[in-house]
Amino acid sequence: MSEPLDPLAEILSSIRGSGRRVTEAKRRLAEVLVATTGHRTADELTTAVQVLSPEVSTSTVYRLLDEFEELGVVVHSHLGHAAAVYHLTGTVHGHLVCQRCEATVEIPAAHFDALSRELVTTYGFMLDRHHVAISGTCARCRESVAVTEHA
Ligand SMILES: [Zn+2]
Ligand SMILES: [Zn+2]
Ligand SMILES: [Zn+2]
Repeated sequence: MSEPLDPLAEILSSIRGSGRRVTEAKRRLAEVLVATTGHRTADELTTAVQVLSPEVSTSTVYRLLDEFEELGVVVHSHLGHAAAVYHLTGTVHGHLVCQRCEATVEIPAAHFDALSRELVTTYGFMLDRHHVAISGTCARCRESVAVTEHA
């Protein structure tokens, strides 16, 4: 009977559902999040919000990101040394980040299933598949290292 909500309506309804008001700043941030794909830092999101509504302050956007995170609307991840990035809560995925070129690869969370089970069983530790990226060297950088080593 109820039609699936579009992503923007879904965000606004979870804000209202928590008993909070939908302010102009929240609506703008929600619009920006829905319109962007990939990983955006708080600063990038702030810039995008301020293009639409210049009166929204940077500290407001930062505060709203925390609020959205509490509501389960967004999640953040740490990809390498740079600032945390945000995206809409959706499919949980893992991140591989190359420590040489900082390329990021998104991988299905299912890759962590076996490790996750083992950590719970052995250590009682619950793995968070999304929050922190796995660090390493990407295929391309490994290739170029191999090439230099043999030059
Ligand atoms: Zn964090
Ligand atoms: Zn690389
Ligand atoms: Zn991601």
